[in-house]
Amino acid sequence: MNLHEYQGKEILNSFGVTIQRGIVASDPEEAVMAAKKLSKDTGTSWFVIKAQVHAGGRGKGGGVKVAKSIDEVKEISNQIIGMNLVTPQTSASGKKVHQVLIAEDVYYPGDSEIQEFYMSVLLNRKTSKNMIMYSTEGGVDIESVAENTPHLIHTVDIDPESGLSNEEACKIADNLGLNGNAHNQMVEFVMSLYNAYNKSDSSLFEINPVIKTSDDKILAVDAKVTIDDNSLFRHEDYLKLRDIREENPIEVEAKKAGLNYVDLDGNVGCMVNGAGLAMATMDLIKQAGGDPANFLDVGGTADSERVETAFRIILKDPNVKAILVNIFGGIVRCDRVANGIVDAYKNMKDDINIPIIVRLQGTNSEIAKQIIDSSGLNFFSATEFKGAADKVQEVLSSN
Ligand code: GDP
Ligand code: MN
Repeated sequence: MNLHEYQGKEILNSFGVTIQRGIVASDPEEAVMAAKKLSKDTGTSWFVIKAQVHAGGRGKGGGVKVAKSIDEVKEISNQIIGMNLVTPQTSASGKKVHQVLIAEDVYYPGDSEIQEFYMSVLLNRKTSKNMIMYSTEGGVDIESVAENTPHLIHTVDIDPESGLSNEEACKIADNLGLNGNAHNQMVEFVMSLYNAYNKSDSSLFEINPVIKTSDDKILAVDAKVTIDDNSLFRHEDYLKLRDIREENPIEVEAKKAGLNYVDLDGNVGCMVNGAGLAMATMDLIKQAGGDPANFLDVGGTADSERVETAFRIILKDPNVKAILVNIFGGIVRCDRVANGIVDAYKNMKDDINIPIIVRLQGTNSEIAKQIIDSSGLNFFSATEFKGAADKVQEVLSSN
């Protein structure tokens, strides 16, 4: 589950990680109230207005702006709330901004000693350990640092059993070129950041930038936090942080229907049972020269109701030009699945105007093929896996 910056920062703060303070707002009036409260609490008179969307690169897209007065807070919030923010990490149509974070300006005017670092904590699947990744070259261009000067990005694997040691944290502060009080503050920052990652059951923390101010404060200025979905059962308080508006609406609907669906960019809709078979089907479509429009595992019960729901969800994607049904009938017999497919098709005949390629293998597959072939509907049946994928290409190129 991905979180907004303001939610991520709240979690960091709850574990004692020092952050750039801020208050979230949904309209310009709330933004003004937030700025006034922030002024009172922190003494700041300059603010930074930050679009809250699930995408990075907001600064580059005009979603992060400094306001030097309460009037400017109102004006800039008015601009940003409701805009479609396009960043290097969104699609061309961008993401609608529903909220802004009004934060204290921590880049003190004229502070030439401000340093921006990069720091993330994540799981290193290769070593089965947690990993802290960090760099002196933080800020908005970390991607080009990774590409052009990868030696400036350090990593350290942390044993999940013993956790982060003081020595390891010191080495990070050393490598960031810090000494004196700033060094101590950074050690404390890293220790509490790692603890927060661990206790919140997150799978990613990306803090870019972490800054050092001239008075040696270490602050998280940005926060990308991803909570491990599998841990949510023990974090009931995090469940309410989910913002459904940021999620793909088709995926949300599929989830409600109990279907395991992931939206993709291609034009071949896939309906498959079993995650492994679904992956293999996508690979085969690719090999045959096509491009899958989705990953969809309909699960064990491929009855007509479920098949119809799956068809309807696949068809919501306007890019879909053909559908490949690839189902292995073991316990659920192929003839039953075939009847389900035919019934579903008949039910929604007016809504389907693209070809459907059906491959059913397993128990009673011969009978199933007959049912499909004699239905008189716009089906193409196949028995072999590769044959089915080739058929998809053939149908697409003849249309
Ligand atoms: P991102 O572009 O989505 O990664 O959003 P960030 O939260 O990282 O903000 C982008 C950039 O805005 C940062 O790298 C900073 O350079 C700048 N920024 C963030 N907070 C402040 C602030 O308090 N004052 C000033 N002057 N700039 C800030
Ligand atoms: Mn950032």
